[in-house]
Amino acid sequence: MQTTEQNLQQTDEKYLWHAMRGANPNQANLIAKEAEGAWVTDIDGKRYLDGMSGLWCVNVGYGRKELAQAAYEQLVEMPYFPLSQSHVPAIKLAEKLNEWLGDDYVIFFSNSGSEANETAFKIARQYHQQKGDHNRIKFISRYRAYHGNSMGALAATGQAQRKYKYEPLGQGFLHVAPPDTYRNPDDVHTLQSAEEIDRVMTWELSQTIAGVIMEPIITGGGILMPPDGYMAKVKEICEKHGALLICDEVICGFGRTGKPFGFMNYGVKPDIITMAKGLTSAYLPLSATAVKREIYEAYVGNDEYDRLRHVNTFGGSPASCAVALKNLEILENENLVERSKELGERLLLELEEIKQHPNVGDVRGKGLLLGIELVEDKQTKEPIKIEKINKVMAICKEKGLIVGKNGDTVAGYNNILQLSPPLSITEDDFTFIVNTLKESINQL
Ligand code: PMP
Repeated sequence: MQTTEQNLQQTDEKYLWHAMRGANPNQANLIAKEAEGAWVTDIDGKRYLDGMSGLWCVNVGYGRKELAQAAYEQLVEMPYFPLSQSHVPAIKLAEKLNEWLGDDYVIFFSNSGSEANETAFKIARQYHQQKGDHNRIKFISRYRAYHGNSMGALAATGQAQRKYKYEPLGQGFLHVAPPDTYRNPDDVHTLQSAEEIDRVMTWELSQTIAGVIMEPIITGGGILMPPDGYMAKVKEICEKHGALLICDEVICGFGRTGKPFGFMNYGVKPDIITMAKGLTSAYLPLSATAVKREIYEAYVGNDEYDRLRHVNTFGGSPASCAVALKNLEILENENLVERSKELGERLLLELEEIKQHPNVGDVRGKGLLLGIELVEDKQTKEPIKIEKINKVMAICKEKGLIVGKNGDTVAGYNNILQLSPPLSITEDDFTFIVNTLKESINQL
């Protein structure tokens, strides 16, 4: 069967494995054809405002010719050279990232968020070894967080359905409950979820813990915001026990939360930072693992055996780095980080009235990262039935707005609507998002 405009749908069903599609039948079968700004057009010509920036990544919006141009020019000049040696775009980008990070970090490039996290785990484990701490092999992460699809990153992931079919995963990953200020409001005062990390480190023996990995705000797992002081407490606990703090900025980075990086909202300096998605706004694949200079220096000057044994063929390819540099330039020139902060604050104000709806338990977020937690009953906080959240998403889609939801199906939490549009949305886009969300939820 030859693929034609008419049978694209059937050919798609036949040959493409859309693993996560079935998770939400209402969102199925959107075959996108072209896109501009925040808007995607499907093969039938229907337009949608992409309220999820693809998969939380097209931060500067679609149709940026200068990004395509940067890729083209670099591919013509030199398409590839490995970073076991070096090339100009990678050098410039590593320097630029240091400006964005505001401190002294050394950068290792890969292609995806999963790889950036795997790299972080390997660097952290070997760092302790270099220092003679041979037992520090374990990592602590949080339930409900997602850290990637590979065996180590999936082991760090704390979402039940992503774990139970694929074991044995990478060894040595422990989980603690994340803060959930909606369901456990006491945590705000007591920081008991941070204290739990202290307890786990103590009972698992501090000397066996390599590090803690966390997103500043849990994104895919339901927009779970840390209470004030939480991250600072976690950093303090890590220091007390000699563990490294790894921040997964794959979604939170590059302005999503209204700061260059999510951790900057909370006054901490992580030891290792992983980033992907918004680094190139998804125009080309690229990810990075940034490590504090002290960590890097533990590897320098040692013999062959002591080097980091890690190579990534395509990681930091010249065209990806050139696109990332141009992408950062756009974010800077258009003040998109500040714009994300401002629009995020306005979004929360605009949605204040929706909190009166009997099924809206909580509305929360930072920058252009928003979660609306839907419940059956405000008193019991019982998560809303999946058919109902799917219905809201279907109404949004019908009206031309793509929204997301968390997917902890097995654990019983898939009741949080998520919104994460391009940081470059216009005022009209903003109004459309607010109105569509309100109207769709009011139809529940
Ligand atoms: N970390 C976080 C927080 C993510 O959301 C994701 C992907 N959604 C990843 C890591 C993995 O990134 P990738 O899909 O590029 O491997």
